[in-house]
Amino acid sequence: MRGTQLGVLLPVMLLLTGCAQSASQPQSWDFFAMDTYMTFKVWPQDPALPERTRTEIERLESLLSVTRDGSDLDRINHARGTPVTVSPETAEIIQMGLSCGAETGGALNIAMYPVSKLWGFTQDTHQVPAPGEIADALEHTDLSRISVNGETITVPDGTELDLGALAKGYAGDRLRSVLQENGVTSGILSLGGNVEVIGTKLDGSPWRVGIADPFAPSEILCSVMTRSGAVVTSGSYQRYFEENGRRYHHILDPETGYPAEQGLVSVTVTGEDGVTCDALSTALFVMGKERAVAEWNRRQDFGMILITDEPALYYTEGLDMQDLPAIPVEVISHEP
Ligand code: ADP
Ligand code: MG
Repeated sequence: MRGTQLGVLLPVMLLLTGCAQSASQPQSWDFFAMDTYMTFKVWPQDPALPERTRTEIERLESLLSVTRDGSDLDRINHARGTPVTVSPETAEIIQMGLSCGAETGGALNIAMYPVSKLWGFTQDTHQVPAPGEIADALEHTDLSRISVNGETITVPDGTELDLGALAKGYAGDRLRSVLQENGVTSGILSLGGNVEVIGTKLDGSPWRVGIADPFAPSEILCSVMTRSGAVVTSGSYQRYFEENGRRYHHILDPETGYPAEQGLVSVTVTGEDGVTCDALSTALFVMGKERAVAEWNRRQDFGMILITDEPALYYTEGLDMQDLPAIPVEVISHEP
């Protein structure tokens, strides 16, 4: 019996861990979850880690996925105005999304699902909706009508929530914690445009995080060096479709219901926790360069790299940027 179980388990473990890795080397693995290719490189090695990270992601998806039957989000979105009790984590992320929405003048709006559904971004059935449909759906995106009372969430009938702008950030934070609780002292995790690091590299040097070139997304445009926390990028090149020669991307302007067009093609936010960086990267993309710079000056608790469609690159003072590209580059300094 035992032998049979081992016989089944072993190939699975080998698949998850990849080829044998020398114990002094970091351990690497990857998998696809949350619509994203996730990669891990950590030290010290532990054969249990790939499965633990996979289980944690699976747990979070079953709470936060907007398309999965029975998830917290799915239950909220089908409650037709009645209160729904969710997990403490879901309530916390919703609360965080609402606070960031309020702080960014509504640029982050976790109630845009009725609008993004029309564009088909979550179902991969892309189309340009009729203006009247967008106007009708926008009627249901009022953040002030969402109530969070402990773990009880109430949204008006017709309003639907989508945590796509910050769920991956939260997942990155959780995965980082799971790895640290399991003894990892050095590592880098990449969840699509969300990177989180643990400690420094084994030789004590900082991690080099590449920022994708929005004009050639499989290439790196520049890098930022980091010793802790998260580096999160939102870009119009990440998910989009084309219709009649026009490009429509997945970050929507809650004012108009159309893809945000404020001259930015990529926004990277660096900071301690991934969920804040993720919420901010989406919000700042919607706000455009001027408002993003004002928000950075106001908060002063994050770093920011903006790439505009000119193209030009702007980054906030204090960031350790490397491999700068051959486009105009400007450092954003604090207002005196
Ligand atoms: P990605 O998911 O590609 O990493 P983001 O973190 O920028 O990118 O989040 C974009 C997702 O957030 C969209 O796919 C959609 O689900 C949702 N979304 C789009 N526009 C907004 C917005 N203005 N506020 C909040 N969520 C948004
Ligand atoms: Mg985001």
